[in-house]
Amino acid sequence: MHQPEFGDRQAPEVGELTPPTRTLMGPGPSDVHPRVLRAMSTPLVGHLDPSFIEIMDETQELLRYTFRTDNQWTIPVSGTGSASMEAAIGNLVEPGDTMLVPTNGYFGGRMAEMARRAGGDVVEVDAPWGEPLDPVAVQAAFDEHQPDVFGFVHAETSTGVRQPDVPELTSIAHEHDAYVIADCVTSLGGVPLKVDEWDIDAAYSGPQKCLSCPPGASPLTLNDRAMDKVLSREEPARSWYLDLSLLEGYWGEERAYHHTAPITNVYALREALRLVAEKGIESRWARHRETAGALKAGVEAMELEMNADDEYWLPSLNAVRVPEGVDDGAVISDLLEGYDLEIASGLGALEGEIFRIGCMGHSARPENVSLLVSALGQTLA
Ligand code: PLP
Repeated sequence: MHQPEFGDRQAPEVGELTPPTRTLMGPGPSDVHPRVLRAMSTPLVGHLDPSFIEIMDETQELLRYTFRTDNQWTIPVSGTGSASMEAAIGNLVEPGDTMLVPTNGYFGGRMAEMARRAGGDVVEVDAPWGEPLDPVAVQAAFDEHQPDVFGFVHAETSTGVRQPDVPELTSIAHEHDAYVIADCVTSLGGVPLKVDEWDIDAAYSGPQKCLSCPPGASPLTLNDRAMDKVLSREEPARSWYLDLSLLEGYWGEERAYHHTAPITNVYALREALRLVAEKGIESRWARHRETAGALKAGVEAMELEMNADDEYWLPSLNAVRVPEGVDDGAVISDLLEGYDLEIASGLGALEGEIFRIGCMGHSARPENVSLLVSALGQTLA
């Protein structure tokens, strides 16, 4: 068959970008605040421009406020939530270290995979999908395995469960001299999270959930104890890009080139965090709780059942059980096609069993809850 020379090929005809306007009530991303979109269309400056250095300082200070920490080592990692996750795990887990991970959701499995790739041995603390970790089980796992690092998911996006008893878990870990890594991807800026008060050594997050920012620059914080371990590693971290001892040169005092920061994403994060600070973090937690509380009441009034017990309910991610005989995929498509409304299906062990309905950041507004409740009611009728 005759293959045309590259030079003979027609240039692709691709039209102007016109994405649909959706209401994002899935597990993330959430709707982006117009001020964040505006910040993203401001002029680019260089990643070492003095004005950008100031923007970096401000973003770090706003991140400390939002994480409730004084940790000097608080940065946006270039990349999505998995990048800040791998930066935490890949730097804190050294070859031969043992990491204890949870089995009660999808993201504990990802922690395990990253720890293995960092050269660590993985041990597990069990809890069913849809339940939090029990401190008694964590204590028993520590006594049995003596792990060096303990990871847990504060807000499990796959099950809609919020991990309570965090200070109890961190004190068990510290009694065993272990380091604690908390996955706060779906909790930062949405549900109470107090990194210093709860004695968490390293916490990572993503911008596209409760901060309502596009993905691309992902929050990470480490205390001095964790950073001392990272800086005294015998072998360098396996990822050059995410090596925190190298990133220290850029985000620390020196401000020397490591890689070209995603400048526009840092602008976006700064604006999203400014929105958090303007109203105050406590009022933001309360807004999520109230708005998601209305959503929960609305779906329960339709006789739908929440997957998580009220005690562990996660306002930012509402896992609602799919009623008997209902095709979850058809409901999700009907909502998208008929109402421009995005929700998601279950993952892993909960595939086909739950709808995942986010109530995060700028999406956590009463008008969205009304739309969701009425559209879901009509679709299920
Ligand atoms: N951890 C949790 C709890 C998440 O919900 C997600 C994303 O949904 C991640 C980690 C990974 O983040 P990303 O998809 O931005 O890489």
